[in-house]
Amino acid sequence: MDGLELFTAALGLGEPWRVSRVEFAEEPGRLDLHLAYRRGARFPCPEPACGRDRCPVHDTVDKTWRHLDFFQHKAFVHARVPRVRCPQHGVRLVALPWARPGSGFTMLFEALVLTFATAMPMSKVAQSVREHDTLVWRIVERHVHAARATEDFSSVRRVGMDETSARKGQDYISVFADLDAGRVLFATEGRDSGTVKQFAADLAAHGGDPGQVHTTSSDMSAAFIAGITKHLPNAVMTFDRYHLAAKLSEAVDAVRRAEVATRPELKHTRWLWLKNWANLSPRQRRELQLLLRPSAQLATARALRWREDFQAFYDQDPSYEDAH
Ligand SMILES: [Zn+2]
Repeated sequence: MDGLELFTAALGLGEPWRVSRVEFAEEPGRLDLHLAYRRGARFPCPEPACGRDRCPVHDTVDKTWRHLDFFQHKAFVHARVPRVRCPQHGVRLVALPWARPGSGFTMLFEALVLTFATAMPMSKVAQSVREHDTLVWRIVERHVHAARATEDFSSVRRVGMDETSARKGQDYISVFADLDAGRVLFATEGRDSGTVKQFAADLAAHGGDPGQVHTTSSDMSAAFIAGITKHLPNAVMTFDRYHLAAKLSEAVDAVRRAEVATRPELKHTRWLWLKNWANLSPRQRRELQLLLRPSAQLATARALRWREDFQAFYDQDPSYEDAH
């Protein structure tokens, strides 16, 4: 096997393609692989439904793709890509085994970017592969769109939704998930009721039926409640425990702040009321027990017991989500 055959095999090329020339430049550190097809070769029409597989070459177009690095050197693939003449579809660029139409990167390079993208932020990916952020984003977006286009949401019945900040403290995004399959269905900017409308439209576009969603899980934001009522009309809303527990703790603290004016022993006790019993130190436990004794008659203590009753309700049965 000579060098050209080796590179032909490494690129996974088959008839009629082969590596015809290799140029390696130590400075500035790049490898250029030139591909050629067998003279006189014929190619299939790129139209998927066409089926004509021996169309004659009309002319060629010079193209270049970035490929996986050859050690520390950037590698590029070059080819004169034939345009074939199909009697039905006219003059068309042929499909290539190493790159998607319109991409300036080989499929292996794109696969590397996708692999990196699951493990690190995009700015790091761009740095690692020595490409601009926007090009790397374009690769990922194209594959995500292609993957999403084939998604089937027809079985979606229980939907969880939540908002999260995309950047610190601002730019909210809303995320929608299939609670049965444990997969993210949809994400969009914003956190108003319009996000539920967009989700419902996207669900329908992927074979799902907003009318068949019978359960939602979300926080108690007015936006989600309004959106669900309007766009997921048959859904029973459940509010997830995490958000409820946070609201209840806020309520306990509000009672404490109101009461501290008349009951100075409540000063500086905020964390005693908010932390779980298990996370309190022995001294904190004794202090809390003292505040909780019935004879102390604290409204804050009553609020805490309500919160705990509520949490005990969730604890009594692991299938609490069905308890509506
Ligand atoms: Zn055709």
